[in-house]
Amino acid sequence: MLVRLVYFSRSTRDMTLLDIQKILEVARDNNNALQICGMLCYEQRYFLQALEGERDVVNELYLDIAGDPRHDEVTIISYNEVEDRWFGAWNMGFAPASDDFYALLSELGKNEFRPADFTPEQAFSLLMKLSEQQGT
Ligand code: FAD
Repeated sequence: MLVRLVYFSRSTRDMTLLDIQKILEVARDNNNALQICGMLCYEQRYFLQALEGERDVVNELYLDIAGDPRHDEVTIISYNEVEDRWFGAWNMGFAPASDDFYALLSELGKNEFRPADFTPEQAFSLLMKLSEQQGT
């Protein structure tokens, strides 16, 4: 069974691009082996991430990620069975904050990146649109 899990969390300190690159390097290797795909974004000390893959694998990876001391307040926004992967092209895509990022946020009626205030639909929609931008 394929599932998609979307969560947000708060970094325990300010992250540099190098910090993020280190996370992505390990994530992409692991996710490739685990056939997990997804999308990560980071801004204003919030992470927002989607994980897609086989249910048991996603569950186990989520528990590992949730225990990572680089972030806390880890909160699931949505968890659904899905027929197809949306983020199939990325072992773990990453969207840095940019003007486009804030334009997408404003399409959702938001001017700040505060995933704690997002509905499940808003969180998925943002990640989906960010992934579409990466594909172009
Ligand atoms: P190890 O690298 O041996 O890690 C051992 C422990 O140390 C783990 O608890 C790990 O979380 C922690 N750790 C590792 N590096 C650091 C560091 N630089 N500073 C502080 N603690 C550290 N991993 C994936 O495989 N796929 C993902 O999609 C993914 N997404 C992530 C998203 C976020 C926001 C964060 C913060 C981490 C993510 N990770 C992801 C990393 C994940 O939490 C684990 O670090 C990774 O899976 C390797 O764990 P390990 O126990 O196999 O190895």
